[in-house]
Amino acid sequence: MVTTHNLGFPRIGAKRELKFALENYWQGLSSQSELSTAGALLRQRHWENQSAMDLVPVGDFSFYDQMLDMSFTLGNIPARVRDLAGSPLDNYFRVARGRSANESACSCVHAGEMTKWFDTNYHYIVPEFSADTTFSLDASRLLDQLTQAQQLDVRAKPVIIGPVTYLWLGKAKDDSDKLALLPRLLPVYVALLDQLAARGIEWVQIDEPVLVTELNAEWQQAFDTAYAVLKTSQVKLLVATYFGQLQDNLALACRLPVHGLHVDAINARDEVAQLVAQLPADKVLSLGVINGRNIWKTDLHATLEWLEPVHRVLQDRLWIAPSCSLLHVPVDLDSEQKLDRDMHSWLAFALQKLDELHTLAKALNKGRVSVQEALIANHVAVETRRTSARVHVPAVKEAIARIDATLGKRASGYAQRAAKQSALLKLPAYPTTTIGSFPQTAEIRQARNQFRQGVLNEAAYNTLMQREIAHCVREQEALGLDVLVHGEAERNDMVEYFGEQLDGYAFSQFGWVQSYGSRCVKPPILFGDIRRPKAMTVAWTTYAQSLTDKPMKGMLTGPVTILNWSFVRDDQPRSVSCHQLALAIREEVLDLEKAGVRIIQIDEAALREGLPLRQSQWNDYLQWAVESFRITANGVQDETQIHTHMCYSEFNDIIAAIAEMDADVITIETSRSDMELLAAFDHFNYPNEIGPGVYDIHTPNIPSQEHMVQLIRKAEERIPASRLWINPDCGLKTRNWKEVIPALKNMVEAARTLRRAA
Ligand code: GLN
Ligand code: ZN
Repeated sequence: MVTTHNLGFPRIGAKRELKFALENYWQGLSSQSELSTAGALLRQRHWENQSAMDLVPVGDFSFYDQMLDMSFTLGNIPARVRDLAGSPLDNYFRVARGRSANESACSCVHAGEMTKWFDTNYHYIVPEFSADTTFSLDASRLLDQLTQAQQLDVRAKPVIIGPVTYLWLGKAKDDSDKLALLPRLLPVYVALLDQLAARGIEWVQIDEPVLVTELNAEWQQAFDTAYAVLKTSQVKLLVATYFGQLQDNLALACRLPVHGLHVDAINARDEVAQLVAQLPADKVLSLGVINGRNIWKTDLHATLEWLEPVHRVLQDRLWIAPSCSLLHVPVDLDSEQKLDRDMHSWLAFALQKLDELHTLAKALNKGRVSVQEALIANHVAVETRRTSARVHVPAVKEAIARIDATLGKRASGYAQRAAKQSALLKLPAYPTTTIGSFPQTAEIRQARNQFRQGVLNEAAYNTLMQREIAHCVREQEALGLDVLVHGEAERNDMVEYFGEQLDGYAFSQFGWVQSYGSRCVKPPILFGDIRRPKAMTVAWTTYAQSLTDKPMKGMLTGPVTILNWSFVRDDQPRSVSCHQLALAIREEVLDLEKAGVRIIQIDEAALREGLPLRQSQWNDYLQWAVESFRITANGVQDETQIHTHMCYSEFNDIIAAIAEMDADVITIETSRSDMELLAAFDHFNYPNEIGPGVYDIHTPNIPSQEHMVQLIRKAEERIPASRLWINPDCGLKTRNWKEVIPALKNMVEAARTLRRAA
């Protein structure tokens, strides 16, 4: 008999119940016990949802983040909160978000650093270490959840983060060697496992996803060391890996003295045969056969074709599960009322994925005939999608086949273009601009909602938006900015806005996925070949241009960013979807140019975060990502100035790729790093123009003119003044006008000061 289990369940709730419970609590609108009750109810419901599984995860539920939970379980709590008043939960939220319920942020307690969980869009709170970090067990959170589960007769499999992954993902604040903490950490893990054993637990899932990354000998050795100690515990350990292949770590993973190994058989299908051969006969092999990272129905027939032979070899030693925790997918497709029948039949959210798993297990245990109906229904859905004319558009595939090197190449090199652009644009030295968006006021959001609900008709909505744009243009003229923007009032989100206007995209109503804490995203679903039925931004941009003699920048989101922030197709490589997006946005670029727009910005905010987990795969990704940008941007004439924007501050490892993109101007985030990151551009001899953000838009603070002048002077040590632009770090969408006006006024003054001194 094959065993079924789940690695983790989306904790946020089908209708984002946890989000609302948390935010009420933080605002002081509910008590701690009300929050606990909300959590307990969600856990109970989610365990019921998973009741068909042989083993159900416990401990995957969190009020903020599973890594932060682990830090508290291990007693690794930053000193800055340790002595503060309040409950452990207050301290938990202080580390999570800088404040507990009803507190205002204070300078003494800054939140822990947050960073991306592997290559997902989930963010975890980074554990903090120093040379004298000590650990002590506080198992209360996990044991409380376990008590609840056991009272409900849940077949509980506690889930914890493994010690090597925990250390790997943390940060030594004093640059000490964090691996040196391992001997101190292990006894706490042993004590934790002992407590679980005392509760009658048989299996514990211990997540070690770093096994799918490149580990040096020292870190590989840490695995041997750690598990030689943990094997003394009474529970059986299932080491869980996900998101990629084991590659060099395969032998290591197989020899760990544990009772089972879980691998991601979606990403590491090629390794399954080797694992079956190599895994010692006393261990179970858990295969993640349902994709936990996307929303597509699994092809059950195709899965059984390769899984049945594996089952015949492994028999009871085979477990099956989703490839990773279902944290990364929405909860329930049945909540969706607006998807058409086809789309609905092609998708599977968390609950549907568990149904698929159950069907697979039954087919393995009792033969395919025992689930014939389900298999036929699955086959029909998979075939309809495979052959749908909505998914496959010959004209798009032909256009992709016609892509060649000329498409992504500008007619002339940067120097020649720059001369023509400057003759045409006649910008002053140190030209000033912004990144695109201006404050999204309550009125703007209200107008958009009313338009969506049909309360406002299109004409009335357009009038309101035009009024907003006109206001934004007037303000920028009054400020004396050199290159203006229309302000993006009509955009809810920089990806969704474009997705909604492209064929090949669908939208869910409740397809929320946790990004961090109570924050969720609802990625649009890229399901078919991408086409642009008509211009998407030209009317707004030309309207804005008609109001001013200053150059108006057209604003677009780039193909790589649209791709990386969507649920994407599993029936073609990401690179193909990206190229399709590139061709569609390229048409928009050319239409803008035709309409007389002289400067076009193509944002690639998510280019960096799409980097694969293993460095060995970076080149391949960067190659098609950069090519896609070039296809989008580089069909324009020499006189048209292309800008791009990236809102992050680590460029060292991708600077060559950024230069390859060949944008005339790039604006980046730098103010918080004191222009330090320009070193990467300097060392590389980055050839084109750069706008290093001179102020941080994430805080309400008004930057002083002097400070911005100082920052630019620093930038000039790296980049010639003739190639510098003056702009904020990022868009101003989240700020209000009262902050924006004085900040930009100072920024424009700073540019004037620099010009006078030149
Ligand atoms: N143009 C977008 C804006 O100004 C860019 C946002 C981003 O890079 N995240 O909002
Ligand atoms: Zn940005």
